[in-house]
Amino acid sequence: MRSWIGLLAAVAVLALALGARAQRGAAPSKSIPANAQESSSKQDKIKIFSVKQGEVIMVDRVKKSDEEWKSVLTPQQFEVTRRGGTERAFTGKYWDHHERGIYRCIGCGTDLFASDTKFESGTGWPSFWKPVAPENLLERDESSPFGMVKELRCKRCEAHLGHVFDDGPKPTGLRYCINSASLAFDPAEQ
Ligand SMILES: [Zn+2]
Repeated sequence: MRSWIGLLAAVAVLALALGARAQRGAAPSKSIPANAQESSSKQDKIKIFSVKQGEVIMVDRVKKSDEEWKSVLTPQQFEVTRRGGTERAFTGKYWDHHERGIYRCIGCGTDLFASDTKFESGTGWPSFWKPVAPENLLERDESSPFGMVKELRCKRCEAHLGHVFDDGPKPTGLRYCINSASLAFDPAEQ
């Protein structure tokens, strides 16, 4: 009971102080919760699947300014991954690439697609029927001249990768149509 009275008194004092401050015409200070920094750093951790480790791991999100991205990407990689561009069909590094290994995100190295799910789509872009793990990707509805399509981004750095369509082969029936410029190939260890 006594502690309630103490609390009420503290609230009253605070209200009086705030009132006095408002009367003096002081600009209201922005209220920033004490734990704001903590919660934003928690949000910066995400779960992705690591092929090498064979399990879901916690990693930091990768955020860079345009200038920083430009310093680590080629102009075409920047245009595709940070501006949502599309490379011309049959011009990319991987549409006709058949080695065994893992295709990773060019921006942050997240494992995205495995060579054993790559197929010949005839489109001129590397095409897969399944990602390494759905949690490594972000899907977003996007309107296009052909209707609504699903845009794909890397979950960790939000690089634009390409689109997913529902006209792919079995067993998923999906076609992940990806720009070579968004990918870095890591050959499998023999
Ligand atoms: Zn990425």
